[in-house]
Amino acid sequence: MSRYFTRSLDPYVPGEQPEDLSRFVKLNTNENPYPPSERALAFAREHCRPMQLYSDLNVLDLRAALAAEVGLEPENVLLSNGSDELLYFAFLAFCSGARGAVFPDISYGFYPVFARLCGVPYQEIPLRADLSIAPEDYFDRHQTVVLANPNAPTGLLLGMEDIRAILDRNRDSVVLIDEAYIDFGGQSCAALLREYDNLLVARTFSKSRSMAGARLGYAYGSAALIGDLETIRYSVNPYNVNSYTLALGLGTMLDGDYTRQTCRSIQENREYTIEMLSKRGFEVLPSAANFVFARHPDYPGAALYAALKARGVLVRHFDKPRIADYNRITIGTRAQMDALLEAVDEIVRAER
Ligand SMILES: *Cc1c(COP(=O)(O)O)cnc(C)c1O
Repeated sequence: MSRYFTRSLDPYVPGEQPEDLSRFVKLNTNENPYPPSERALAFAREHCRPMQLYSDLNVLDLRAALAAEVGLEPENVLLSNGSDELLYFAFLAFCSGARGAVFPDISYGFYPVFARLCGVPYQEIPLRADLSIAPEDYFDRHQTVVLANPNAPTGLLLGMEDIRAILDRNRDSVVLIDEAYIDFGGQSCAALLREYDNLLVARTFSKSRSMAGARLGYAYGSAALIGDLETIRYSVNPYNVNSYTLALGLGTMLDGDYTRQTCRSIQENREYTIEMLSKRGFEVLPSAANFVFARHPDYPGAALYAALKARGVLVRHFDKPRIADYNRITIGTRAQMDALLEAVDEIVRAER
């Protein structure tokens, strides 16, 4: 830290991104193993705005396409540079010294980082012993509620009625539901937007739409909430999403069959992985996401993480009190999952 730095920050720590990708089976940052479709890539090449020009400010075509998916209007959609940026905008817009944020003690690691960056007080509410969210813990908080659904890194899903109850008991506060993984098996709460003007839904093209490196996120909300986020956007970086990403995003939307197909493959590979890990003595939480959260009674989480890494398989371990026994394993192709299982078998044999 230089002597000029004016902050005391504890930044987010992303999963490892190794320089030489060929050395690893990479199952540590929940990327999609399948590339964007050829049709989407061809569309982007053809329709990308010339790079000497600034990117489109309003992006009506892409916002209309996203709005149509849930029966809304373009004014109900904000685009962002990955959904991380949108989460940051939401903390800036809807939290203050007087109105803090509440979220689970075990959830996406960026929530407390944004709260601290924005100078906002926050409360981390413990998950139940089984690592599920207790909806009633979020009732009548008078603070901005932030929940990932399905939650990360557990993969556990909260039902629509629970989300509705949380919205009902927080009519004076924004409830932000982060649906980064919703396409892998959950039902979106965007359907509740017509009833609740305090609901904000965050989504991303990074996971189910294979565009992590392109950085494209979006929010669904009432025109008023989206307008507030636009005010923040125009106060930070109006051209927040680059032209190529906008074109590829629209191309991806026009090839919805491909997204549905790849999501289905990942769901199948997930059920296969859960079954195979269970056979090997792992305890695996039921997952509605493109990852599983698993522990083995005989191998501490950190040791298993290191042994897998030594065999070229990268997974994610969180050195945090209640979850240190677990590893989060991204679901990749069937071949990648077989490589993981092979490494697991080697470890279990070697240490017997
Ligand atoms: C991956 C992820 C995001 C953000 O991803 P972006 O790449 O910034 O869109 C947001 N929330 C959760 C829970 C995530 O896992």
